[in-house]
Amino acid sequence: MSVTASDLAFDQRHIWHPYTSMSRPLPCYPIESASGVELQLADGRRLVDGMSSWWAAIHGYNHPHLNQAASQQLEKMSHVMFGGITHPAAISLCRRLVEMTPEALQCVFLADSGSVAVEVSLKMALQYWQAHGERRQRILTLRHGYHGDTFGAMSVCDPDNSMHSLYQGYLAPHLFATAPQCRFDEEWREEDIAPFAALLEQHAGEVAAVILEPVVQGAGGMRIYHPTYLKRVRELCDRHQVLLIADEIATGFGRTGKLFACEHAQVVPDILCLGKALTGGYMTLSATLTTRHVAETISNGAAGCFMHGPTFMGNPLACAVADASLALLAENLWQAQVSAIEAQLKQELLPLAALPKVADVRVLGAIGVVEMREPVDVAELQRGFVERGVWIRPFGKLIYLMPPYIIEAEQLSRLTAAVAAAAAAR
Ligand code: PMP
Repeated sequence: MSVTASDLAFDQRHIWHPYTSMSRPLPCYPIESASGVELQLADGRRLVDGMSSWWAAIHGYNHPHLNQAASQQLEKMSHVMFGGITHPAAISLCRRLVEMTPEALQCVFLADSGSVAVEVSLKMALQYWQAHGERRQRILTLRHGYHGDTFGAMSVCDPDNSMHSLYQGYLAPHLFATAPQCRFDEEWREEDIAPFAALLEQHAGEVAAVILEPVVQGAGGMRIYHPTYLKRVRELCDRHQVLLIADEIATGFGRTGKLFACEHAQVVPDILCLGKALTGGYMTLSATLTTRHVAETISNGAAGCFMHGPTFMGNPLACAVADASLALLAENLWQAQVSAIEAQLKQELLPLAALPKVADVRVLGAIGVVEMREPVDVAELQRGFVERGVWIRPFGKLIYLMPPYIIEAEQLSRLTAAVAAAAAAR
C-alpha cells in the first residue's frame, strides 16, 4: 500500500499530527518502511534517522530480535486483561526492570504511555501522603521541565512552554523552582540549588513530591544540567521527607551515557517513570517503579489499593517486545555505542558554537543540541534536511540529534553535516 497524493490531501484535511494546526498544517512526509537507522520515503528515498522517533528507537527499526519477540507473542495472544490475570511476558519484563534499576525500587506499575506513567507517579505520591494521614497535595518541580500532555503531567510542565494560561482553572497549582543554571561540564556552584532549596523549605509541609527529569530536561528546552544539582535535590527531599520522582522517560536506557541518568549523581529516586525506549520504540508502554515502603504505605491506606488500572495494562505484545529490548541492552553493546556517538557529536557539533547564529552547543551521551539565537522555520529546515537524505525535526530554537545507538560513524556525519549546514545558512 503506497501513499498517493489524495491520501496526503486527506491526511492534511482530517488527521491531527503532534502540536499542529488543522487549518494550517505543516507538511508531512510519507514513510513506507524503516530499517536499521533509515526511514524510507514513499518515493524510495532513504533518510538517515537522527531522532530515534523521539528518544524511542534505540536499537534501530525493524530489528530481527524485536520482530521475532512480537511475532512469537502474537501467535500466543496479543492482549489479555491484567485484572486477575498475569502472563509470562509481563513477569519476565518486570523481573528485568527490578533487576536493572536501583535495589530500592521493587514494585512495578505498567501503563500505556509516558504521560500516564507520570499521572501514576503523581497519584502514588498523593495516596502515599493520604495513607500517612497528612494533607500534602502540592508537587514541586523545575521550570523548563516537560512531563507529558495529560492534565496531571501538564500541571508540572514548564508553565510557559506548555501554555498553562490556556488551561487556567483546570490545572492544579504546583510549585516551580528556577531551572538549574550550572551546566553538566562546568564547575558546580552551590548557589545553583538555592532557589529550589528556599521553595522547598517554604512549602515543605504541603509538598507531596518533587518531580524532575534527571540531568537532561528534554522537550522543555534540551537543557543539560550539573549532576550535583540532582544530588542536592535528593538530600533536600530527604531532609524535608518529600518523595522524589525521577522522570526518566526520555533519559532512561542509556541515552545519556549511563543506563539511567540518576546514576550521574548516584541518586536513587522513590518513584521512577520509564517509557519511550522501554519497547525499543516498537509500541507504547510505560512503567512506574517504586519502593516497597511507598507501595505498602499506599496499600495500607484508606483505599486499600492503588487506584489505577488501565484497560491495556501489561499488554502482552508490548511487554514481550520490551522484554526483548531489555535483553538487547543487557548484551551491553550500548555503552560503547553511546560513548562513540558522544565523542563524534562533540567533535562535529561543538565547533558550530563559533557560528554567529548559534547561541550554544551541548552534547551528552547520544544527545547533541545546537541552540540557535532565533526560532527556526521548521518546515523550511525540514525540507532541506530531507533533500540531504536525513531526518531531523527541530523545535523552537533547537536543532538536535538523538540517533539510534546502532548508527555508523559515516551516517552520523551525514546528520551532523546537515545540522552544520542549517546552522550556517544565510
Ligand atoms: N516525560 C518526559 C521526560 C518526556 O520526554 C515525555 C515525552 N516526550 C513524556 C514524559 C510523555 O510521554 P508520552 O509522550 O509517551 O506520553
